[in-house]
Amino acid sequence: MNVREAYKILRDKGIKITPQRQALLELFADEKSYTAREIAEKLRRHYPGFSFDTVYRNLKLYCRCGILTETMAPDGIARFSLNTGQHRHYFTCLACGEKVALESCPIEENKFNLPGKVGTITYHRIELFGKCAACEEGKK
Ligand SMILES: [Zn+2]
Ligand SMILES: [Zn+2]
Repeated sequence: MNVREAYKILRDKGIKITPQRQALLELFADEKSYTAREIAEKLRRHYPGFSFDTVYRNLKLYCRCGILTETMAPDGIARFSLNTGQHRHYFTCLACGEKVALESCPIEENKFNLPGKVGTITYHRIELFGKCAACEEGKK
């Protein structure tokens, strides 16, 4: 998913692309993850009338369209990012929002020592959170 594909989905679904919705979508072009609050703060610089509720509703709309995905960070705050559509696991930096894809899936590679009672796994989630290397070194 990239921003251009997202526009196509919105058009196909007959969802009106308002300047606000466009601005919201363009924020994700950097492929980072953001909380609704971060998004609202960024957007309000250009659209002072953009309320937090409107931002949140539109983020949820984009999730339903498959444009964005929502992951719950350990602090219980949802972070939104473009839906890549692939089976991928990510590390998210809670300081700068940088999102890094892991190169492989530890479940698919059978890297876990699963007890014998575990049969077939049909669904799993692995999300890593912390501080990216650049933030750790104080480069950001
Ligand atoms: Zn960082
Ligand atoms: Zn996996």
